[in-house]
Amino acid sequence: MSLQNTPKNIEVSFEFFPPKSEKAEEALWDSVRRLEPVHPKFVSVTYGAGGSTRDRTHRTVKRMVDETDLTPAAHLTCVGASKAEVMGVVDDYLDAGVGHIVALRGDAPEGMGAKFTPHPEGFTGSVELIEAIRAHKPEFGKKFEISVAAYPEPHPDSQGLEKDLELLKAKQDAGADRAITQFFFEPEPYLKFLDAARDYGINMPIVPGVMLQPNFKGLKRISGLCGASVPNWLHELYEGLDDDAQQRELITANVAADLTMKLADQGVKDFHFYTLNKADLALATCRLLGLRPASQAA
Ligand code: FAD
Repeated sequence: MSLQNTPKNIEVSFEFFPPKSEKAEEALWDSVRRLEPVHPKFVSVTYGAGGSTRDRTHRTVKRMVDETDLTPAAHLTCVGASKAEVMGVVDDYLDAGVGHIVALRGDAPEGMGAKFTPHPEGFTGSVELIEAIRAHKPEFGKKFEISVAAYPEPHPDSQGLEKDLELLKAKQDAGADRAITQFFFEPEPYLKFLDAARDYGINMPIVPGVMLQPNFKGLKRISGLCGASVPNWLHELYEGLDDDAQQRELITANVAADLTMKLADQGVKDFHFYTLNKADLALATCRLLGLRPASQAA
């Protein structure tokens, strides 16, 4: 990686999760405040399994609308709720001034890996959810944004690439504006998936999701559950560092910046960072990419 040759004209977005405690809330808002001057395209807030964070997600995006210049995107899943309940959440987001939803099927309440079964009166998957959101307020038109998930490496439920492309195309046809990918660590699976998607007629942006998780044990666990592969070189980089959080953080920022630069070299312009609510790592990664908070711009 050449640090003197940082990519130009890339744009970033950041993902946060809603805090569980007062202390976590303080940490989140500290991160939000520190990342705001980087001028992300949008910031997204996740929705806990089975709607468990419904109120916290809502409170977090509402506060972002009220107190920051950020453009929040609220995640929403179909899990464990009737269609009417899910659309009630959509209305709550709209009333709060949120103009962007990340529409997802979600995982079974037992967690990733368990079989997804729709609620008896619920949406069967993300395509139905997108259609319902678009039909709900047609007057918003394309001013209202919908993002969806995509998987460069197969999702555990995948029935093969052809079916995955069919599903992603159906999401686009239902009204999705953009896909954000599951995290991955090497450019090739993403670039291959992107080519296959374009050949299939999927023209919406497919934004790489870049992970900033310095807890390697946790990363391995979650990767195993969601189908993301962890290359050997990554195991080697973190080897022996279980008790050295500082070194792991330095490595994490460099790994994320390296992947981003490689993709930027291939013409990718937009990147979504999974921040885990940690500003330091996201800021260091952005700095390695030549993106600085406005006040520190050279
Ligand atoms: P879909 O894309 O609808 O389906 C997932 C996979 O299942 C497909 O890739 C395909 O392999 C298979 N599949 C499903 N239906 C069909 C079909 N009809 N035909 C063929 N194959 C099918 N989870 C949360 O709980 N809260 C969040 O906030 C959250 N945010 C996320 C953000 C991003 C960017 C990503 C990538 C994931 C996120 N997730 C979140 C995880 C997500 O909920 C899980 O990965 C879930 O298992 C799938 O949801 P989906 O919308 O991607 O489903």
